Amino acid sequence: MIHKDQSIPCPVCNTSIPFELNKLLAGVQFVCPSCMAAIGLSGESKEIVKDTMNKLQEIKNNMSAQKQRDH
Ligand SMILES: [Zn+2]
Repeated sequence: MIHKDQSIPCPVCNTSIPFELNKLLAGVQFVCPSCMAAIGLSGESKEIVKDTMNKLQEIKNNMSAQKQRDH
């Protein structure tokens, strides 16, 4: 199973920091491999990310529902 890792640019040095969304949402911090800056979500951004993920999931659900209807 191929799972493409996600990454975000380091706010300090702009290096791509690989992260796993599930862990990020769980409050895990990820460290920049270049400058060792730790990135993580504050409680507030966690809600924003969750909200975004929910919306994405809704869109996905709508898409698959349409597919089934077409089929
Ligand atoms: Zn960095």
